[in-house]
Amino acid sequence: MGTNQESRMGYYDSRYKRVVLCCDYIRSRDDLEDTLVHELTHAFDSLRKGKFKSICHLVACGEIRASALGQCADITPEKKKNQCIWNDAVRSTEIHCGLERAEKTVREVFDNCVHDATPFQ
Ligand SMILES: [Zn+2]
Repeated sequence: MGTNQESRMGYYDSRYKRVVLCCDYIRSRDDLEDTLVHELTHAFDSLRKGKFKSICHLVACGEIRASALGQCADITPEKKKNQCIWNDAVRSTEIHCGLERAEKTVREVFDNCVHDATPFQ
């Protein structure tokens, strides 16, 4: 699924099935771990079968999961964490679907996808 080049710190390259980390932008161990978990979640999801209404739903769900498990995972309280996930998911989905559609789609799949921590739980 085409989620390449979504973040300055890394991306999952579905064509060659590899996670690419952009060392120039990674400043700390936390950056590295968050980016790696985020992109590995995309790698995992690319091999999963799922039923989605559209490619935007698929992308939005993947971004919600990758942000929830990756860069937003340690944020508290829950409300702030969900805001982090929401913002990052909309920003990444927007690249593929446009802003209006991204916001609508993230809203539709948020509750289901944010609680799906596979394969970490
Ligand atoms: Zn992503």
